[in-house]
Amino acid sequence: MKIHEYQAREIFSSYGIPVPEAKICTTPQKAKEISNLIGYPVVIKAQVQVGGRGKAGGIKIAKSPDEAMKIANDIFSMRIKDFPVEIIMVTEAINIKTELYVGVIIDRSSKRIAVMTSAAGGIEIEEVAQKTPEKINKIMIDPLSGIRSYHLHKLTTPLFTDNRTPITDNRKLCSECDNIINKLYHAFIENDCSLAEINPLVVTDKGKLLACDSKINIDDNALFRKELAGLRDTKADDPIEKEARESGLSYVSLKNGDVGCIVNGAGLAMTTMDLIKLYGGEPANFLDVGGSSSPDKVVSAMKIILTNKNVKSILINIFGGITRCDDIAVGLLESIRTMEIPHPIVVRLSGTNQEKAKEILAKTELHFVSSFTEGVKKAIELAK
Ligand code: GDP
Ligand code: MN
Repeated sequence: MKIHEYQAREIFSSYGIPVPEAKICTTPQKAKEISNLIGYPVVIKAQVQVGGRGKAGGIKIAKSPDEAMKIANDIFSMRIKDFPVEIIMVTEAINIKTELYVGVIIDRSSKRIAVMTSAAGGIEIEEVAQKTPEKINKIMIDPLSGIRSYHLHKLTTPLFTDNRTPITDNRKLCSECDNIINKLYHAFIENDCSLAEINPLVVTDKGKLLACDSKINIDDNALFRKELAGLRDTKADDPIEKEARESGLSYVSLKNGDVGCIVNGAGLAMTTMDLIKLYGGEPANFLDVGGSSSPDKVVSAMKIILTNKNVKSILINIFGGITRCDDIAVGLLESIRTMEIPHPIVVRLSGTNQEKAKEILAKTELHFVSSFTEGVKKAIELAK
């Protein structure tokens, strides 16, 4: 789950990471009032959950009350990468000397937490990592020992080697940076993050370090923690994915696919998508109705699939273990009765109570298949 910059800033600040003075608001008038309090110049920043806001024009400097009002107005009327701007943050403008990068992420291949720094901060770090990987310092942390001072030493020393800066100043910056990374690491662990980064971490003209941008992603598996779940901006969610979540379904919509999928179990749902691709089709979505059998979930799933205008056929792929095929059949029958479904529906139901399921659906015009592969091929053919 992504959260906003202002929320991440607050978390970082509570760990003692130095951040610029800032306040959020939802109207240009309020932005002007905050700017007057902070003192000019101020930086006005769109709060949207996407990277590269700066490049997209969502971050601007205002030097006067009139300008603050006008810029805030402009930013509120923007859409950044398809996200409307509903909140902006006004911060004190910092005179930046250097922009650095520090970040903590999960490194899946080594199954460890990776802590990274780079002197090439400010810009998109993914690009730096791809084009000039030598500019990134990366350390894998053993979860048992946690982060140690020798890790910090390796991460921060390469950042402060500018030989125009006196050695004592560089030492001071190194130790300040060690502190910040240590705090960032603890913020990451204690808030069940999948990512925590400061880009840019700046050296100000006064020789101080300051986190000028704060970013946190929270591991979805930690959302049973109310204080973390409470950070969700439901307005920023895809409305259909939100509805799916509320109905107890795992749903991810895919661009350009035309075979809608309703499957039980995440593994089978993934395999269904793979097999559709293998036979030359394009899945329109991932949808797992879950392990428990409930007709209502099938009805919700069907409603969600029908919101996708690219869908041309629907594949129901159920392997009944705990899920009972007859429950799925009842849900399916209910869907056909209550909804206008313009697409052909291919049904593969095998496992618990499959015979009963077929009886329930006997009078319908569904395309029954007896195997997974047959179902996939049929659904692709019908989507053409
Ligand atoms: P992002 O584009 O979404 O990553 O947003 P950031 O908060 O990282 O801002 C993008 C860029 O705007 C930074 O890399 C800085 O160069 C610039 N910026 C942000 N805040 C300030 C500030 O207070 N003063 C100055 N001079 N530049 C800033
Ligand atoms: Mn940034």
